[in-house]
Amino acid sequence: MKKISFVFGTRPELIKVAPLIKACQKHVDIFNLNLISTGQHKELLNNLYKWFDFEANINLEIMQFNQSPSQVIANILQKLDEAIKDSDLIIVQGDTATAYTGAMAGFLHKIPIAHLEAGLRTNNIYNPFPEEMLRRQISQIACLNFAPTETAAQNLKQENIKENVFVVGNTVIDSLKDTIDKLDNLEKNNQLTEFINLPFELKELEQKKKLILITMHRRESLGEEHKQVARALKRVSQEHTNLLLIFPIHPNPSVREAIEPILQNCPNIKLIEPLDYITFCFVLKKAHILITDSGGLQEEGCSLGKPTLILRKTTERPEAIEAGNAKLVGTNEEDVYINFSALLKDKELYSQMSKPSNTFGNGNSAELILNEIKKFFSNNLTI
Ligand code: UDP
Repeated sequence: MKKISFVFGTRPELIKVAPLIKACQKHVDIFNLNLISTGQHKELLNNLYKWFDFEANINLEIMQFNQSPSQVIANILQKLDEAIKDSDLIIVQGDTATAYTGAMAGFLHKIPIAHLEAGLRTNNIYNPFPEEMLRRQISQIACLNFAPTETAAQNLKQENIKENVFVVGNTVIDSLKDTIDKLDNLEKNNQLTEFINLPFELKELEQKKKLILITMHRRESLGEEHKQVARALKRVSQEHTNLLLIFPIHPNPSVREAIEPILQNCPNIKLIEPLDYITFCFVLKKAHILITDSGGLQEEGCSLGKPTLILRKTTERPEAIEAGNAKLVGTNEEDVYINFSALLKDKELYSQMSKPSNTFGNGNSAELILNEIKKFFSNNLTI
């Protein structure tokens, strides 16, 4: 029996580790799963546990009001010591403080680390901050690197990380495809309303309005940059009254402070609380355009063929741009306004950007990762 500890704490981490946890749960004869939540996004995880049908067995509850990133890291590291004890493998995902400390705690105990979504790079350590540096450090520690794309694997190679690098796609697509299939079934059976939790009437989405889905939370753009984006959205929404802009606001109070004063009284903009994952996927499926600085949304948009305007100066997911689905527009008011307006007016451009692509995987990443983990154990590899 091998003890595998999964360390997660934020919404995107749980969405992305869930398919692998579910795949491992089918092998109770060989794996003893230890599911550790650091609690970084505690309030956003509950609906995900319900949807994916498992829960953490250890909750570290590390969040305190107004903590600095170094306090978060120190806090998690200290508490992980006990939680990861006796693990044969620790699995972390992405580039958060949780993923970094999970890897570091494992390293200090000489426990092997598997890293999901390895090799993403912007090559600018301050953008995204602090994630670019955190994921670089994890790559140095991990002994199994699961790169979502060939480009990510090449990035690792350039840092001399060549062994045990596997190109497997991104597990976010496993979760998305599975959820969209379930939504399609619910729709067929007229059961949607039992599962969808919108803070307004479903029919508002169905009044032939073009739906624009917006998310924005990056630390580097807090404040003035968020205000610029909000002003651009307001201008476009006033010029195109046939649009419905849905904007689930990230719980970070600084995001709300910048955006609310500008957008709260716009009749065709819905500023709402974060949506549970199923409802979010439902809106995503219906969306005409995505405007976002979220990493996960760039991947999901690409898979569903949704034209995506990226509110960032750089992206570690160039594949979405190469596939033709996404464009980097930054956060300057005029740039966002011009690019958003162009996508609404230029049918040719819209059609070019709306072709689905499997550049981030086919929905079978968890299975591919599980096979490599089984091989790792059967070869009795050590660090
Ligand atoms: N998401 C969600 N509800 C929302 C907004 C996003 O369930 O209101 C999901 C979305 O499907 C995606 C993930 O959360 O998979 C993205 O999370 P976030 O933008 O917080 O982080 P990032 O992807 O930038 O790391």
